[in-house]
Amino acid sequence: MLGRPLRAIYLPGMTTLLLASYGVTAISDYVDLAKATRQMICAHCGYGTTQTSRDVHRIAPQYHDSLGDASGGIFEKTWSCDYCDRVIIELITCGSASSGTASRRVKEIMQIWPARTIRELPPEVPEPIRDRFQEGSRCEGAAAYRGAAAMYRAAVEELCKERGATKYKLYEKIEELRGQLDEDLIVDLHETRMLGNDSVHDGLTYSPEEVANVAELIVEMTQTLYIEPAKKTAMREARKQRREAHKNGESPAG
Ligand SMILES: [Zn+2]
Repeated sequence: MLGRPLRAIYLPGMTTLLLASYGVTAISDYVDLAKATRQMICAHCGYGTTQTSRDVHRIAPQYHDSLGDASGGIFEKTWSCDYCDRVIIELITCGSASSGTASRRVKEIMQIWPARTIRELPPEVPEPIRDRFQEGSRCEGAAAYRGAAAMYRAAVEELCKERGATKYKLYEKIEELRGQLDEDLIVDLHETRMLGNDSVHDGLTYSPEEVANVAELIVEMTQTLYIEPAKKTAMREARKQRREAHKNGESPAG
């Protein structure tokens, strides 16, 4: 079993990013819903590219297939990435406009496709590892892959420390654990180490796939190191309690 499925959540930092793509800085600023192009980091391919508007229409309180009337409501705007051609869909809640195509005061903006996701490690995993991992996931969700790589690497550092490694460099920490951990795990640890290593990545961009692979490797490793042992302990405890209940039930009172 490879950890838990990704859980979609609403990332507060996304609002700022989305507003910036319309050239404004705050909720309640006026945005131009007819905006034809924008600069944005693509949530699919991860490149900072130009996105082109494909369509905008109002979906509530009444459907309207364009910006043709001036009333407010919830609008759905679809962009496509000029680099990878995939679409990004946003819901924008706005006040009314002075005319159909005029700017409207924005009340809320959120990306609904692709779903922004966050990876989480279960509570059996020690807090310092979970903490770095979750921060890495937030970066990954915002398509900030260099930041994600650095935080996932920090999660691996914490994992090595938790297992007793004391050396300074991550390579040495992993080697310290040789003999204590299965060879498969040592290989996985070295693989994750390559991602956040800027000397390896000098001048290269981090691909979303590469970052996702490392996140999944960390999920697998923590499964082996923390989840499975915790499950075994819980099952052993349950068996012991059943045995004792049985014994107590059989033994005569007094
Ligand atoms: Zn793209």
